[in-house]
Amino acid sequence: MKHKTDNKRFLKKVETYCKEKGVRYTKPRRMTLEIIAASERPLGAYKIIEEMGKVTHKPKPTTVYRAIDFLQRHGFIHKIESLNAFVVCDANHAHEGSQFIVCNECGLVKEVHICELPDDLQKQVDAAGFKMDRWNTEIHGVCQNCQF
Ligand SMILES: [Zn+2]
Ligand SMILES: [Zn+2]
Repeated sequence: MKHKTDNKRFLKKVETYCKEKGVRYTKPRRMTLEIIAASERPLGAYKIIEEMGKVTHKPKPTTVYRAIDFLQRHGFIHKIESLNAFVVCDANHAHEGSQFIVCNECGLVKEVHICELPDDLQKQVDAAGFKMDRWNTEIHGVCQNCQF
């Protein structure tokens, strides 16, 4: 069980999306996504900067932060808040919330695609008269492999 999408197909899909939407798929954006997609574990910004420095000259941190921001906004990556790291998402921008199961031992991260906020939570949000923007759930534990 690895968090790994079919990279070639995924990267091609992102490229097509950008072309169709007329958004610029700049080299730093492309490289940032390729680096995150190639990793089996969520990557933090500093790791991305370091990895990019191996392929080309070391980028300015702001360049990478801006690329991350772009990729996040378009739903190509998610941030795992508790790890301060990023993973790719192949869900076709179909959801506003993101949920992850994170293994404390090996760092495996699995995304769970629940598009709707669970009822009990939604009720609380409604009762508070709150207008929800996005939501994020992270469940920490030990994966199947690490239990033996
Ligand atoms: Zn997702
Ligand atoms: Zn594990």
